[in-house]
Amino acid sequence: MGRNHPASATVNLCGDIIDPYPTPRLGQTLQESFSRYELESTLLQIAGNYSWTWDLEARQLFSRIPSVNGDSGLHPAERIRLLSEDAWATLIADREFAALARSAHSRIPPALAVTGPDTVAYFSPEFGVSEMLPQYSGGLGILAGDHLKAASDLRMPMLAVGLFYRDGFFVQALEDGEQRERYVTNNPRFLGLEATPARVPLQLADREVIARVWRADVGSTQLYLLDTDLEINDEQGRRVSDRLYAGDREHRIRQELLMGVGGIRALRQLGFDPPKFHLNEGHAGFLALELIADEMAKGFTLEEAIWAVKGRVVFTTHTPVPAGIDKFAPDLMRKYLAVWADRYGVDMDQLLQLGILPGSDDHFNMAAFCVRIAGRCNGVSRLHGEVSRVMFREVPGGSDITSVTNGVHANTWVHPDLQRTFEDKLGSDWHRGDESVWAAVDDIDDDEIRSQFRKGKLELMDTAHRQIGEPTALDPDILTVGFARRFATYKRADLMLSDIDRVLEILRDSDQPIQFVFAGKSHPADEPGKEVMRRVIAFAADPASQGRFVFIPGYNMAVARAMYAGCNVWLNNPIRPREACGTSGEKAALNGGLNFSILDGWWDECFDGENGWAIPSSASEDPATRDREEAGYLYEILTGEIAPLYYEGNGAAPSPAWLDRVRHNWKTLGPFVTAARMVAEYEEHIYQVAQSD
Ligand SMILES: *Cc1c(COP(=O)(O)O)cnc(C)c1O
Repeated sequence: MGRNHPASATVNLCGDIIDPYPTPRLGQTLQESFSRYELESTLLQIAGNYSWTWDLEARQLFSRIPSVNGDSGLHPAERIRLLSEDAWATLIADREFAALARSAHSRIPPALAVTGPDTVAYFSPEFGVSEMLPQYSGGLGILAGDHLKAASDLRMPMLAVGLFYRDGFFVQALEDGEQRERYVTNNPRFLGLEATPARVPLQLADREVIARVWRADVGSTQLYLLDTDLEINDEQGRRVSDRLYAGDREHRIRQELLMGVGGIRALRQLGFDPPKFHLNEGHAGFLALELIADEMAKGFTLEEAIWAVKGRVVFTTHTPVPAGIDKFAPDLMRKYLAVWADRYGVDMDQLLQLGILPGSDDHFNMAAFCVRIAGRCNGVSRLHGEVSRVMFREVPGGSDITSVTNGVHANTWVHPDLQRTFEDKLGSDWHRGDESVWAAVDDIDDDEIRSQFRKGKLELMDTAHRQIGEPTALDPDILTVGFARRFATYKRADLMLSDIDRVLEILRDSDQPIQFVFAGKSHPADEPGKEVMRRVIAFAADPASQGRFVFIPGYNMAVARAMYAGCNVWLNNPIRPREACGTSGEKAALNGGLNFSILDGWWDECFDGENGWAIPSSASEDPATRDREEAGYLYEILTGEIAPLYYEGNGAAPSPAWLDRVRHNWKTLGPFVTAARMVAEYEEHIYQVAQSD
């Protein structure tokens, strides 16, 4: 292993380096106790691979390590380093802890060879691997994290590349009823990252910057993150990788050149030459320029070079709205890409043409560029595939866009107790299970599901208490509706509040009570999104809502996990068809939450009439009428169908009929919504096909 050699290795009299943390000898029995250093080494190795975030035993192990100053948000590697001698003495004496440590250690997924013809290098601007590695903003990043984890489970050779943002994405706090953005400086050494020797030079207009590269192990996949915060760079150079999705267009083009061109150079310096590249959204599209340059160096023309790289690049588009796509003005492109064009004798206008989205403006559209150069393109749900084929129909290759519906990494997102129930009833491979495996949810009895839900709600109440700073009036025994996502306006977080009198009436109902839990962040520059958030926060703070409408601040992966396990109903009401997929509903479904959603994204293809509820879409072209009508459907179904089913029969709630729906939800959605299914589809329909074309 040797991955976690401490900086403090000492040298003996003969000059040999003594590893103070030797790897435990094999053959030790599980009961045998550890020396202090053996235990520390074992724990650091487990913490050194992000597989601990989804390995149940590793999670259990780390939950037993005392937190420092009550801060359980610290990375376990950091908590281990901060343990007092007394705490060590207690842990060393604990035989059960030692057995757990050995067992968790034995399950760290070994690294895979990434030199073969099936290796894929996955490029993404953000990666949501854990709330402790705050390098994500929302769905796109979480999807990337889940993709790597599932690839690891399936033992697919995969490398991943992104940026290390020193300040990450902002942490949300509330002040005067508004979101306040707080940036926390991350020290990569405290986040389980390893420094690599790579130093990547990159010309950014008139200056050269050098990036270093960190490695995170995510199961058997390796994630490389480029970081320009080095002293040899000038102030502006150091700031290139400062924050995720912040700064002006010029800042963004620098970041995207670093990610694409720098990313491919980093892999090569580290000794990798992956045959295939997967672009998760277009931000890293400039990597194609590096591949094209290789071909042109062999004497090919630009067209021939593009043709040659097609079989190596696949592109996943995520944005069904043209305004949401990353694009750069021609002047900015000239400033940063003239170096490349000059070097390879490419006419700048010809290069700019590659990024034109017909019917749009003269900007270089990263998605249009990726559609032109990728051998295979896909949207992230069936409906989104259709929308994308229309949106890119004028771009060569645009009408061939297919779709792979997003999935979620079950072991990351399902509550640990429910995972144990699934293991017990469905078998240890439940998370990759087909319909026959999921049929066994019939063996989980009503009371077991009820007690699972109640526990989920109590934990959600704890989370809300911790995040808000005071207890809430949430009740573990009533129907709980959840909504958590970015506060982009198209998601309409305030649709529920369209008719305040109606909402207040619902909240006052003591016969069939319903409570609502909301969370989510708004992009710092999205004023309309922030306005929606102000309304939601103000309503939650209004005594008229009787504490039955709670907004949890500080949305992140941990808050999200608590919500999926603690909500009975997952609300989703975007403007159709703007939600490309919407993975939060899939996570809720695996946890036994029933979806209540507009027929958009994944739900459009998965709703079967029984596994949740559909909110009908209005036929009106007028936004105000549309919103009013759809809010009306929402109230009607919630009070006319959902609440009555939950409380049916006046016995224990949720009612047996509700629990039958939950089982039906698992049977129909369990086999489909997982990242295991998604990654297998990428392998079969996207990666393989791109290669053979
Ligand atoms: C799943 C998830 C998302 C994506 O949710 P959508 O349904 O796509 O809006 C965003 N943020 C976090 C923290 C998540 O866990």
